[in-house]
Amino acid sequence: MRWLSLGFCAILPLANVVGAEVGSGSADFRELGNGNRPNTPNIVIVFTDDQGYQDVGCFGSPDIATPNLDRMAREGIRFTSFYVAQAVCSASRAALLTGCYPNRINILRALNPNDQHGIADEELTLAEVVKQRGYATAAFGKWHLGHHPKFLPTRHGFDVYFGLPYSNDMWPRHPTHGKNFPPLPLIEGDKVVQEMPDQSQLTTWYTERAVKFIEANRDRPFFLYVAHSMPHVPLFVSSKFQGKSPRGLYGDVIMEIDWSVGQILEALKRLQLDEHTLVIFTSDNGPWLVYGDHGGSAKPLREGKGTTFEGGMRVPCIMRWPGQIPAGTATNELAATIDLLPTIAKLVGVELPKDRIIDGKDIWPLMSGQPGAKSPHEAYYYYWNQELQAVRSGRWKLHLPHAYPSPGEPLGGGGKPGRLVQKKIGLALFDLEADVGETTDVADKYPDVVRHLQALAEQARDDLGDSLTKRTGRNVRPAGTL
Ligand code: MG
Repeated sequence: MRWLSLGFCAILPLANVVGAEVGSGSADFRELGNGNRPNTPNIVIVFTDDQGYQDVGCFGSPDIATPNLDRMAREGIRFTSFYVAQAVCSASRAALLTGCYPNRINILRALNPNDQHGIADEELTLAEVVKQRGYATAAFGKWHLGHHPKFLPTRHGFDVYFGLPYSNDMWPRHPTHGKNFPPLPLIEGDKVVQEMPDQSQLTTWYTERAVKFIEANRDRPFFLYVAHSMPHVPLFVSSKFQGKSPRGLYGDVIMEIDWSVGQILEALKRLQLDEHTLVIFTSDNGPWLVYGDHGGSAKPLREGKGTTFEGGMRVPCIMRWPGQIPAGTATNELAATIDLLPTIAKLVGVELPKDRIIDGKDIWPLMSGQPGAKSPHEAYYYYWNQELQAVRSGRWKLHLPHAYPSPGEPLGGGGKPGRLVQKKIGLALFDLEADVGETTDVADKYPDVVRHLQALAEQARDDLGDSLTKRTGRNVRPAGTL
């Protein structure tokens, strides 16, 4: 395979590239220093776990204080129709890091310690994209694209890794399935350095490493991926934030994540890297509602994690890059985690391979606030596992008939899950501009819209498959195996 490094400056203000060696993929970035960089912004992605759409102050939380995220939004842009690719951990992370629907690359559901597969060597991760431009790369936190050494971050483009290889509840203290799980490993590089780590320290440990990584790489471009284990249950918080939120432990955990973001932003400012750094904050899926007070909130959206309603798939998203992203703005245009890889590839001047489909699109026009910028997606597909459950185009979202789990009575609490009830939805059309809560089916009123969305769904079935209609996708690639 051939990789091309192309200088890309068409959409960046000239000031950013003056004096830069645009087009030179082999530039020695260390020598260039902060004030005279080539077109290689630092990239920081903070990815939280199961944080709901409403669980950030500037996304409407009534009782959780997030001053650092709110400041980040005042200095950047909020995306209010930002989607993950599936409302579950591994599938969502696969999409973020490869720019593909998880069905495309066969990483579905949440991988567990018995799984023998993971991300394929042939897939191109975001870390491998920026590596082509000499970036230092680090992943701190939850990985969840395979826990065997060959699937770990250090084999997929990251120079360093520290964190949990899968979810923090996959351990013997699981409230209902503890017998299924071995001791929870904490990994550094590709070695287990601790079993059953003190989870109250995870957010602090990830943050300390993130700040040290920024300091160590202040004079060269870097990609920092901080994938918090929290606020996925079981919830843990350090003494710094214990008992601080009126929302209880869940609120404390979010406050600590907000502190972590603040530490990263403070380091960037202190090292004068603000104007060289794109920072992106988002969550891997909606809240785990069946855990009651230990789950988050997706209000005003319907349902949460594990469903293809907006509450499962639409997540809070903030992007900040002083001088490039206009401050204090918001867009309601549809964008998604799959868009980050192609957008960043273009920003840093890496041409993506032509021998495969990459589903994401360039959303820089939205990020940079270009007047009249529109979502590049004619259709966005909502899969749960291999079921194509819904499709969105513009303001319209069509649910295809499917079952879904919904929290029943009594709700969970104190770290224990409640009862899930299986519900069903038939063919139903929602106008997300008028009815973001998906309350009123308007399919009868707009038969042409329904037909159009059904045709778009048919394209996805042919391309990616759909177990609801027993279809096999013609363009899917295998996961990696041992
Ligand atoms: Mg999750």
